[in-house]
Amino acid sequence: MFILETPRSMHAEREYAARAILGVFMGQDFELLRTQEDGSVRLSVAGHVGSIVFPDLFFPLADDHWLLPSSFPDSLFTEDRFGGAEAGIFSQFEGLPLIFAGVPRAEESGASVFFPVDIFGLAFFMLTRYEEAASDSRDSFGRFPGICSMAYRFGFLDRPLIDQYVGILWEQISALWPGVNRVRRQFQIGVSCDLDSPYEYGADSLFVAGRRVLGDILIRKSLSAAKSTLRRTIAWHRKDYSLDRYMASTQWIMAVNEECGNKVQFFAITGPTSDPRDGVASIESAPVRCVLRSIRARDHAIGMHGTIGTASDEILMKREYSRFRKALESEGWCQGAVGSRQHYLMWDPLRTAAFLSRCGFHFDSSLGYPDLPGFRCGTCMEFPLFDLVDRKPLELLERPLIVMERTVLDDAYLGLGLDEAVGYMLELKEAVRRVSGNFNVLWHNSSLITDSQRSIYRELIS
Ligand SMILES: [Zn+2]
Repeated sequence: MFILETPRSMHAEREYAARAILGVFMGQDFELLRTQEDGSVRLSVAGHVGSIVFPDLFFPLADDHWLLPSSFPDSLFTEDRFGGAEAGIFSQFEGLPLIFAGVPRAEESGASVFFPVDIFGLAFFMLTRYEEAASDSRDSFGRFPGICSMAYRFGFLDRPLIDQYVGILWEQISALWPGVNRVRRQFQIGVSCDLDSPYEYGADSLFVAGRRVLGDILIRKSLSAAKSTLRRTIAWHRKDYSLDRYMASTQWIMAVNEECGNKVQFFAITGPTSDPRDGVASIESAPVRCVLRSIRARDHAIGMHGTIGTASDEILMKREYSRFRKALESEGWCQGAVGSRQHYLMWDPLRTAAFLSRCGFHFDSSLGYPDLPGFRCGTCMEFPLFDLVDRKPLELLERPLIVMERTVLDDAYLGLGLDEAVGYMLELKEAVRRVSGNFNVLWHNSSLITDSQRSIYRELIS
């Protein structure tokens, strides 16, 4: 068993970080002792000689400046403060940015090794999204923008930095204590699809259908489009949804993933709200129920896609969750672990995780930036979240989102061409593969209509 000796301060936060690094990412048992008094953290193995010493940089600052930007000054993210004399201790980190790095305070004895990164402080900082809670930067939706993140500013958003540091730490652990075994991980692809628009458009109202037919003839000047609108409308009224392109692409997503052996995680929006960005589909409606039935019949998974307001409104979230459960139960569907992804990736770093946890969700998969792909939490592994208000760990797990198709393709974000976009996404996939992590990718059913979109998608999920 590992023994981690830390200073007395910030006990819950230090224990959470230790559980993430040693327990979750390395699969080790550990005991945390609050006995270290020299401004460092020490790792040892019961009954074995030697220890690994870490600098203790972040937690003392956070203790004095809790949730203030002064607790993570820019100097923690740069290497400028180290002279040539210290270069040797960073030799294992060649090619990696040195974040939360420090040098030994005193000469370490021959039996101890110095690991020059405050990996526990960095894990807490990145996994809890502490910087987002400490920052006032928000976009027009009220989201923290990726371009304001320390990871983007200091050039490590495109790499799973914590996983890379864990790999280096494990090399040191293996060299010092060869008998300790690490849990073997395997690269996995986590395919997901948000059903913001389960169907392309309903034809419940003859007025809407008639207006669309007139638009086909008068504006689009296409008789064949008018005919197909008519055909779709008649079919829709017979509850035959096979002509709806968005519903057909949901079936296609399941079919191609089944060929690759992937189980798709869908997230269904519960229903329209006063905000038009929440769409028009209601989870109780016949076409959405038809989609749910097919997802169940093909043994894929369904989670909730909370509307925009739920990220900061616990009552609304509970109400939507209740509707979501009822819709599933009325189909006789009782899933074990139910997940959530917030519509538009809305996230209040002080509240959303606690709301989700209190609702009873088992996992969330909202933590990727809408404006930039990459590693918002510094990892591609699943990990438990932390409540920054009550300052305690949550049961809720996070499956960090690495890339969403709209982030790379939409003009509102990166707006890359298809070729450039696929190159970018495959590089991220490789970065995840190198650390045997989970490549969690989101692609909406409404963006899988053209042959070129579908061919990129196939490459990404295989
Ligand atoms: Zn959405």
